[in-house]
Amino acid sequence: MYDPRSMKAEEFICHEEIEETLRFADAHKHDREMIEQILEKAAAYKGLTHREASVLLACEEEDLNERVCQLAEQIKLDFYGNRIVMFAPLYLSNYCVNGCVYCPYHAKNKHIPRKKLTQDEVRAEVIALQDMGHKRLAIEAGEDPVNNPIEYILECIKTIYSIHHKNGDIRRVNVNIAATTVENYRKLKEAGIGTYILFQETYHKESYEQLHPTGPKHNYAYHTEAMDRAMEGGIDDVGLGVLFGLEMYRYEFAGLLMHAEHLEAVQGVGPHTISVPRIKHADDIDPTAFDNSISDEIFAKIIACIRVAVPYTGMIISTRESESVRAMALRLGISQISGGSRTSVGGYAEEERPHDTEQFDVSDQRTLDEVVRWLMKDDFIPSFCTACYRAGRTGDRFMQLCKSRQILNCCHPNALMTLQEYLEDYASPETKAIGEKLIERELSNIPNEKVRAKCVEHLAAIRNNEGRDFRF
Ligand code: SAM
Repeated sequence: MYDPRSMKAEEFICHEEIEETLRFADAHKHDREMIEQILEKAAAYKGLTHREASVLLACEEEDLNERVCQLAEQIKLDFYGNRIVMFAPLYLSNYCVNGCVYCPYHAKNKHIPRKKLTQDEVRAEVIALQDMGHKRLAIEAGEDPVNNPIEYILECIKTIYSIHHKNGDIRRVNVNIAATTVENYRKLKEAGIGTYILFQETYHKESYEQLHPTGPKHNYAYHTEAMDRAMEGGIDDVGLGVLFGLEMYRYEFAGLLMHAEHLEAVQGVGPHTISVPRIKHADDIDPTAFDNSISDEIFAKIIACIRVAVPYTGMIISTRESESVRAMALRLGISQISGGSRTSVGGYAEEERPHDTEQFDVSDQRTLDEVVRWLMKDDFIPSFCTACYRAGRTGDRFMQLCKSRQILNCCHPNALMTLQEYLEDYASPETKAIGEKLIERELSNIPNEKVRAKCVEHLAAIRNNEGRDFRF
């Protein structure tokens, strides 16, 4: 039976409730009155239930669909402004004991070279990432208790935070590793991680079990209940996601929102982020073998519907997507993107992009400098800010900041100051020139006069090389 407060996966992600939701959404896809009401609720920034949001996703009225997109754009601007947080993935190890049929790291793949970074190699990767200008990483690893035990992950985190190359610094390490125990989550928390990210892959239990035929990841309940264990272990910020293409997107969408509702109901705070990966070609993986792939149009609609349903949750898109898809996604709700990514183990320290250990093909192959310049040309502010969790603004405290709209006095100046650091230390002359003008323009959007004056002071200090890492 469906119960968002239950701690059992099959009760808070209830198959019957999802089926019923999909029937309900189908029955109302032309119901203009209901859709108008849902839009009104969303426009009051109250968020939507999985049922309401599913009706929007199913809606077949063109003008109303247009309004969903307009509202998504509005919410995006009101809550996140034109700031886009930048990050890069760092692959530590592709050893894996699981049998995930969509992932080239699956245990039966005997021809992919297996690689695990030594601490010296982690250092080389981090220096390469710092030299690009990155301040925020998401570490990635396969699941292998012998080769990548939690001690290895913790050691890597320690190494990453310890490296200060030139003016470089990794100030936030997010972690995307397999579901684990409360005790291990506590260790990750103590190691100072930011968000714990775990993609559900699919919320459809039967498909989940078929797609993960072997290994510990086969256990649907253990995987689905991981975020509750992470929060029990003290991690405030968790990141959800499904791998679109595995199952019917409307099923996944309802499941994703039910998961967010469950966390809100039980933990008092919803997910910090939602990611929207789509299956890509990789080594022995052919994405056309999965028959639930979605078009760019549907993908855009999903992003817009998530944006209006959970306005306080950040949204992430990776370099799995092309420049043009990312441009569309940024407008409709995405607030964090990766740039200059390499998805292979040890890829950043190599001159040429290595393909042999890549987890998936990268569509957007531009350098970080190119991505930063591209964003600024479109009037976005690339932000390298990591202030919130370092100032203890995690979980519900971050949500409060978001809800009280103090973000403009906080995130906005932080974005400008970290962009200034990027421009001074890493940008090409062309990028720097565009950025300087953007910062000048954007200063006037800081509402509080004192904060603005302080920000101007800090910007000058960064330019004069008198300091780094200022934050509000
Ligand atoms: N191994 C960890 C786990 O099991 O959760 C997480 C790390 S894995 C490197 C990160 C994510 O990449 C997976 O959760 C999956 O959604 C995604 N992924 C795997 N194969 C992919 C593919 N062929 N195309 C796109 N994304 C893929």
